[in-house]
Amino acid sequence: MQDRIALMRDDPAVELSVDGNAIAGLLMSVFGREVTAMEEQCAHCRTVSVVGTLRVYMRGPGVVVRCPACAEVVLRVVETPSGRRFDASGATHLVAGR
Ligand SMILES: [Zn+2]
Repeated sequence: MQDRIALMRDDPAVELSVDGNAIAGLLMSVFGREVTAMEEQCAHCRTVSVVGTLRVYMRGPGVVVRCPACAEVVLRVVETPSGRRFDASGATHLVAGR
């Protein structure tokens, strides 16, 4: 039983993810405002998603945010000795609400 649980933990298919609302505070510190209600467009599949609905993976080095439609990476936040690095190259744009 113990081995089976360990195997499942290593399987990326069952990797636990949370939604974008879980990193609302982190995103606020990056953007300087609340962005979970904003829409972003995935640069890979062009799906438009509300940031709060994106899939967030926090187990790796840094935070990886993936498109709920195609699972490609749209946002990445990594803490480095020289500061926080934010990579949004997987998103074509963010749309601020009115
Ligand atoms: Zn996508």
